[in-house]
Amino acid sequence: MFDKILIANRGEIALRVIRACREMGIASVAVHSTADADAMHVLMADESVCIGPPPSGQSYLSMPAIISACEITGAQAVHPGYGFLSENAGFVQMLEDHDITFIGPRAEHIRIMGDKITAKDTMKALGVPCVPGSEGGVNDVDEAVKVAAEIGYPVIIKATAGGGGRGMKVAQDEKGLEVAFRTARAEAKAAFGNPDVYIEKYLQKPRHIEVQVFGDGKGRAVHLGERDCSLQRRHQKVLEEAPGPIITPEERARIGKVCSDAVAKIGYAGAGTIEFLYEDGEFYFIEMNTRLQVEHPVTEAIFGVDLVRQQILVAAGQEMEFSQDDLTIRGHAIEVRINAEKLPNFAPSPGKITQYHSPGGLGVRVDSALYDGYSIPPYYDSLIGKLIVHGRDRPEALARLDRALGELIVDGVETTTQLFRDLLQEPDIQSGNYSIHWLERWLEQRY
Ligand code: ADP
Repeated sequence: MFDKILIANRGEIALRVIRACREMGIASVAVHSTADADAMHVLMADESVCIGPPPSGQSYLSMPAIISACEITGAQAVHPGYGFLSENAGFVQMLEDHDITFIGPRAEHIRIMGDKITAKDTMKALGVPCVPGSEGGVNDVDEAVKVAAEIGYPVIIKATAGGGGRGMKVAQDEKGLEVAFRTARAEAKAAFGNPDVYIEKYLQKPRHIEVQVFGDGKGRAVHLGERDCSLQRRHQKVLEEAPGPIITPEERARIGKVCSDAVAKIGYAGAGTIEFLYEDGEFYFIEMNTRLQVEHPVTEAIFGVDLVRQQILVAAGQEMEFSQDDLTIRGHAIEVRINAEKLPNFAPSPGKITQYHSPGGLGVRVDSALYDGYSIPPYYDSLIGKLIVHGRDRPEALARLDRALGELIVDGVETTTQLFRDLLQEPDIQSGNYSIHWLERWLEQRY
């Protein structure tokens, strides 16, 4: 087992990894920008190294700085968290060249899944059902018109290098297709340095259902059920729950097996998420994320497992601690993302926390790097905490969520807390009846 792990991240996910390290008797190293000198992950880790100025490009994304920090501190492995360098195959390669272990899958798998066209081709070949669409990329408008006519409108044009909900454009008909195609390419080029796009059928009222998988890198893999992440704003998740309110045990077993077989076959190592759109009883693959997800705690809650611990074990060449038969679901869990943002338009609201009180009690977990007097810097994303509740069933989880939200105090900045309290009053949320478009429509009417 490793003696020391460096966490190439900040905020709540850095704490999450430090906590797992501590329980495993492994020393932790935090890295930070000058803007984060007094951040919680720095205070909580056993050691810390400043790796650069505030902009992430010069600190949290600086591979040479992170590798130097490993060498200075003698860290044998790096946990990337999510975002930043977590899905950067070049980083994995560079670590390997320096004999440092990356806690995650092999560079090859990150590369395949990082390009959505290749990812879809690979998954299709592995027997995973995909959204109908173009065979590979689409290079010009004429080809786009042809493909769209075949699959039928509306269609969505997506960047192969896409992420974070960017570079996607919907076209309702042939008239709108040309503009959508050109804007998607331009946006993709600007955001990802790669203009390549592909086309998919635009599903009308799907749910976003994602399957958690875990592989040992040697051909054994399991699935840990699904999460429903349909409540989204601008294609970004806002609330996640597990199990999915409308997924039956039979559907779970079926799609779960398809997913675990697929990752077992490629020898995938560590945690991964296979994302689907789900409509009328059918699953359609959209992408795979080769990292721990923000919403992993809902899965941990219902299965009673520590996914970060398993990631570390597998990276160290040890066995994961469960097989498929050991994994049974207990109860229902919901996570909400508390952002430092001002409603109604979700404008970032950085600043000093004058008072912070975290909820507690039975079935409540708070993953947050906030503390009294902490100043949220303006340079990074606005997620300041995740509130996760676990109940014996969905109604209990909902009631617990409302109770816990009522206990949360974050003064000094604006937060999205009230949004969730309002949402919990909605009959559709109470019954679990929502598609990926529900939240945007509700926000338009409400705020
Ligand atoms: P990103 O990598 O940018 O997150 P995804 O491919 O995961 O992009 O898609 C993000 C979200 O965009 C999905 O959860 C869904 O809400 C919407 N979306 C993507 N593809 C389609 C589609 N074919 N039809 C309808 N909505 C889609």
